[in-house]
Amino acid sequence: MSKITVIGSGPSGVHFALSLLKKGHLVEMIDVGFSGETPVNPNDSFNELKENLEDPVKYFLGENFEAVVGTDSASVYEFPPHKQYIFKNPEGYDVELHGFEPHLSFARGGLAEAWTGGSYAFNDTDLEDFPFGYSEIEPFYNEISERIGLIGVDDDLSRFFPYHKNLLPPLDLDEHSQSLFNIYEKKKDKLNKNLGMYLGRSRIATLSKDQGSRKKCDYSGRCQWGCPSDSLYVPTITLNECLNYKNFKYISGILIKHFDYDNNNRITAVIGFDVAKKTEKVFKVETLALAAGTIGSSRIFLDSFLRKEGKIIKLAGLMDNRQILAPFINLKMIGKQFNPDSYQYHQLAVGIDTDDPKSYIHGQITTLKTGMMQPPFQSMPLDFKTGIFLGRHLHSSFGVVNINLCDTRRDDNYLTLSQNNEGGSKLVINYKPPEGEDKTIKFSLKKMGKFFGKLGAVIPMFQVQLRPMGASVHYSGTIPMSGSGNPLTVSPNCKSNDFSNLYIVDGSTFPFLPSKNLTFTLMANAVRIADAEF
Ligand SMILES: Cc1cc2nc3c(=O)[nH]c(=O)nc-3n(C[C@H](O)[C@H](O)[C@H](O)COP(=O)(O)OP(=O)(O)OC[C@H]3O[C@@H](n4cnc5c(N)ncnc54)[C@H](O)[C@@H]3O)c2cc1C
Ligand code: SF4
Repeated sequence: MSKITVIGSGPSGVHFALSLLKKGHLVEMIDVGFSGETPVNPNDSFNELKENLEDPVKYFLGENFEAVVGTDSASVYEFPPHKQYIFKNPEGYDVELHGFEPHLSFARGGLAEAWTGGSYAFNDTDLEDFPFGYSEIEPFYNEISERIGLIGVDDDLSRFFPYHKNLLPPLDLDEHSQSLFNIYEKKKDKLNKNLGMYLGRSRIATLSKDQGSRKKCDYSGRCQWGCPSDSLYVPTITLNECLNYKNFKYISGILIKHFDYDNNNRITAVIGFDVAKKTEKVFKVETLALAAGTIGSSRIFLDSFLRKEGKIIKLAGLMDNRQILAPFINLKMIGKQFNPDSYQYHQLAVGIDTDDPKSYIHGQITTLKTGMMQPPFQSMPLDFKTGIFLGRHLHSSFGVVNINLCDTRRDDNYLTLSQNNEGGSKLVINYKPPEGEDKTIKFSLKKMGKFFGKLGAVIPMFQVQLRPMGASVHYSGTIPMSGSGNPLTVSPNCKSNDFSNLYIVDGSTFPFLPSKNLTFTLMANAVRIADAEF
């Protein structure tokens, strides 16, 4: 049995590791692994938490109101204080940004400790530039669905993302989502034909049935603050499963800086930095798998060339989904009470057919329940009293559609390094949106405006927010899969073409980024690599 060193405990790393462990391999996972607290008062609902906590303001909003969204923010919500560890960077992790505002995570479980669980299989069109088609990755989608617990329905959206095995029955829709869905059902023939738009259930990594020690969702309305019953999947659930294996070793507190290699381009060791003790640590390597997230893995790759050969190289092709947040008011819901005992994140998704199927536009619809209601109101020219009055009466009628556009690999978008005065390096990220993006944004907003209008809702266009590139957190494309054997690419099974014992198992290897959230495919691809190569 071989020993494989995996860097990172995000969704890519933990599912890759679990597959290797099941096959009996020795796995050593090295991670920075900042960790948070376990959820407080696990049996409380959202409202009970507000009543029972000693200092609910501190819990929900933060001592310094860190969780309140600023007027310049393009975000619907900020994270509460106890979740800030997910986005904490280790000291000295310098990054210079041009046109890109990434969120990096060095947490145990990575970025998906804060995700909203949207999990959509890529279809054959999405996979056109990948060295495999849907039928080859389908068994791994099925496997991941079973591992994480994934809700999905065979409905109008299956035309965009295939309906596969091991999907759980849906949760109850909240009243607002149900109202949108009912009107769609009545009008769908016209909406499909005239607008090329389809509505259905979003696929969400949440349990509607108990699974082992994880409980089915009980509609506590606490999703944004951390699900206390592990119904909403996060990667630390799989990391904990890995920890039950004797052949698994998890080493946290280490920031891997670079790897070292011999004259035959075989990696011999990874060189890390103990973030607490501030000392260097060297780990011998037989086979290395980078799963530090696209930006994290690319940086380790770049730094390794710099340390060994003094070369600064460029990794081109960085991709991310442009996201547009379009708030809407459902006129039928005005004046109604919202039910706090509801699942908080998106339950519906919307798809726009385009002339080129690869450019499919994807949206996730979140209706406002227990979530922060301040962002939709802050941009309105209202005084405090009127704001509170309208807030109370409009709360249940608010929602937001998060529109995602696809992205392609382009040379203008790249990661490289610059050297600082102390002999260290700084990561440099450059991104320019594609030509014609304005038109695509206008097109999608026009379509959404008409679509929501037909469902009885209004999108106030002055409230639409174009999120900066980097905000979707769907990074990919810097060391792509290809059959070419060229340097700075990987094989179809994600084995490096530069180093004989290196695998890259995160989004770095994706040759195209469809508008559908990528994490489900990250996990399935990681399991595909483990299955094919070990
Ligand atoms: C608010 C939010 C909502 C999201 N919602 C969705 C969604 O609905 N659907 C979806 O598909 N995606 C969503 N995402 C994106 C999703 O979280 C990411 O695609 C996913 O986490 C990437 O997984 P990864 O394993 O490749 O990397 P990451 O999650 O970035 O994990 C990287 C891991 O590597 C470790 N690491 C990094 N660098 C080093 C180093 N140098 N040395 C040692 N360890 C290192 C980190 O500690 C971490 O454990 C969301 C993200 C956020 C923030
Ligand atoms: S998924 Fe959300 S609503 Fe369901 S149990 Fe967890 S926190 Fe509560």
